[in-house]
Amino acid sequence: MTMIADKLQQVRQRLDAACAACGRRPSDVALLAVSKTFGPEAVAAAFAAGQRAFGENYVQEALDKIAALAHLDIEWHCIGPLQSNKTRPVAESFQWVHSVDRLKIAQRLSEQRPDGLPPLNVCIQVNMDGGANKSGVPMADALALARATAALPRLRLRGIMSIPEPVDDMALQLAVHRRTRALFDELAAALGGQAPGWDTLSMGMSADMEAAVQAGSTLVRVGTAIFGGRPTAN
Ligand SMILES: *Cc1c(COP(=O)(O)O)cnc(C)c1O
Repeated sequence: MTMIADKLQQVRQRLDAACAACGRRPSDVALLAVSKTFGPEAVAAAFAAGQRAFGENYVQEALDKIAALAHLDIEWHCIGPLQSNKTRPVAESFQWVHSVDRLKIAQRLSEQRPDGLPPLNVCIQVNMDGGANKSGVPMADALALARATAALPRLRLRGIMSIPEPVDDMALQLAVHRRTRALFDELAAALGGQAPGWDTLSMGMSADMEAAVQAGSTLVRVGTAIFGGRPTAN
């Protein structure tokens, strides 16, 4: 497991270098370690190396890990597509959801968030490049969804999340990330006091974290570069 500590260190160095290259402070870019498909021992190894926030895509897999690691002070983020029949355990066991893409999901999360817990932090997932079979609300509908979500009592709207189509070329990565940054700023201006917690632009993964940082990401979600390759789903 020392390999995970080494890779985590390399990712932090990549982020520091990306921040230095564009004059941002490393403390302004949070690192979410995406541990989907990896077991609790991998999460524990990253935790031992100082990582506190972990992202998961599959609800049942995540619940098993959360239970196995309940003794560690981990902040759990749900970043995968959510079906409405899975919202309850997510509202009960996670601190964040990045993948709110319709009002019904936001309403259920708010209704099902237990009273004894602080409000659930949420981001609106936006589909920035129009991929037809992708999750995410179209740009044109993002403001209406953000307004309605911000009004729900047990949620705290923090910002937006994007998963652009993977491309190798950094200029192309930058172009879509800059459009997402612009949308983030436009929504902030339009929402004003309606979303006092608005501070999170969740964008950038293993292959494009430098472009995301340059475009203004405040949270990168990194899996492969920390934990290694995943078996490809079919
Ligand atoms: C899997 C996943 C990631 C991490 O991707 P890597 O390329 O492995 O860094 C980030 N965000 C979401 C939403 C994911 O599903």
